[in-house]
Amino acid sequence: MMRGRKKELLEKVVAYRFQPIKDELFDLLQEYEEICKREKDEDGLACVYFYRGEAFFRLGKYDPCITYLNCSLMHRKKEENSYLEAAAYNVLGLMFSLLGYEVVALEHYLQSLDSAEKYGLYNQKAITYINMGWLYRDLDDLVQSLKYYDLALEELKRSDSDNYYNIEILCHAYRGQIFCNLEQYEKALECGCIIERLRKKNSILFYDVSVENLYVRLYDYLGEKEKVNENLYALIEQAKNGIDFLEFCEFYIDVCNYALSKGMRTEARILLNCLHANIDATELIYIKLKVQSLEVVYQNRYSHYENYLNACREYMVMQEKYEYYIKKTKLTGMQNIQNLRKTQKEKEKYEEISRRDKMTGLLNKVTLEESIRTYLEKNKEYDRCPALILIDLDHFKNVNDTLGHLTGDQLICDVADKIKTMFPYSEMVGRVGGDEFVVFFSEAYTKEDSIARADELRRELNKLTYCDENCMVTASMGIAFLVEAIDRYETLFSIADDALYEAKHAGRNQIVIGN
Ligand code: GH3
Ligand code: MG
Repeated sequence: MMRGRKKELLEKVVAYRFQPIKDELFDLLQEYEEICKREKDEDGLACVYFYRGEAFFRLGKYDPCITYLNCSLMHRKKEENSYLEAAAYNVLGLMFSLLGYEVVALEHYLQSLDSAEKYGLYNQKAITYINMGWLYRDLDDLVQSLKYYDLALEELKRSDSDNYYNIEILCHAYRGQIFCNLEQYEKALECGCIIERLRKKNSILFYDVSVENLYVRLYDYLGEKEKVNENLYALIEQAKNGIDFLEFCEFYIDVCNYALSKGMRTEARILLNCLHANIDATELIYIKLKVQSLEVVYQNRYSHYENYLNACREYMVMQEKYEYYIKKTKLTGMQNIQNLRKTQKEKEKYEEISRRDKMTGLLNKVTLEESIRTYLEKNKEYDRCPALILIDLDHFKNVNDTLGHLTGDQLICDVADKIKTMFPYSEMVGRVGGDEFVVFFSEAYTKEDSIARADELRRELNKLTYCDENCMVTASMGIAFLVEAIDRYETLFSIADDALYEAKHAGRNQIVIGN
């Protein structure tokens, strides 16, 4: 019952990503959060905080946006929810870029890229690259910006998501606009052609505004006035709608600029009104300043001197507020980077700890198995002769029984240390049972290498003593070589296991080669 409700809530929340935000969204999130807290569902909480942070982003409220996205990042997630991490970093990047604090935005974008790469989320990588392109475009480095759009296209080639075409279209629309700005219209027209081809393949479009903005420029260049107006009014319709205004506001500002430069008074006025209506309600002074500077141009050109002066005055008041506000933004940004660093470190530490056996620091059974499986998958042809060496201490129960568990523990640690010293370059050394260890010796060139090294280890272990130097530590070992016929971990392990069993039966303190 509860699970059904959660699923329903989440579906509704996700649907809001493509609709204007209403209060209901926050009620849904609240209910979802309460259920997750009751169930101690960490992944669910990471999800709630992400969507809440994203909603505040869309509303242009930067404080709660940053707070909730950070909360989301701090919750540990299962692998299947790792997309939330890359996405949260990306939205944080966007937020800081709208706040006019590019350096911090960049820092978050880079984190987003790392995280997306780690989990193979190439679509997300492409989106983040596109946003990075925007960052550079805003600072007038158009060449650098183009480079990022190219990188985004490269990532899309690696991606297999359904939303692929939309992002590709967005990317080409941005590229086209830059080519227009550089007055390289042939290249811009090429982008238009690519977009048309992509549009035919795809019925649902998310980024119409970006395409319309480009088309206004292209048809203007081609002298097709009707088409210019068609696209301009389509874009104005979207602006009036107000859906995802912040995500698209750069396009509205861009096209308003264009309208002003072309003397399209009515269109410029409508766009300015939409921009005021949607931006004034936000806390994003950086964007407000951009809009107000357009207002100044408009008033200068089309209005009385008095109105022009008022617009200038308002601009100056904003500018003053901005000085104060940018300081606050910088502090928030700095704090955020510090928090994220800390979270990252803790997460890495936690991940590392959970990979290892607490007592000996060797890899634990699960991680070791995973590592060997990955190795088998990646290395199909061997120029070496890897071996799996299974080691089990002899009569270890006696140590526990006669000297107690604590001494037994100490001995296990001493043995682990010896193994580490004997195989210093092997990454895959683990404790797989109480007194059982595995070395996956991938560096060995020949079977003899492994046998010799294992025997050396056996003799080294014999040097360890317990119980007043009277008793010698001995271990039995089974070795399995990775030959071509073996492609599964289970097979390899069971060969070594059988060999170990033989070694025990043949009197212990010896090595048996499995086959
Ligand atoms: P064998 O020569 O046949 O291997 O005999 P053995 O006594 O070593 O028996 P076996 O390998 O089957 O069992 C290992 C024993 O190690 C069982 C358990 O009492 C003990 N053991 C398992 N984990 C720990 C641990 O963390 N600390 C200590 N002190 N003992 C452990
Ligand atoms: Mg044993």
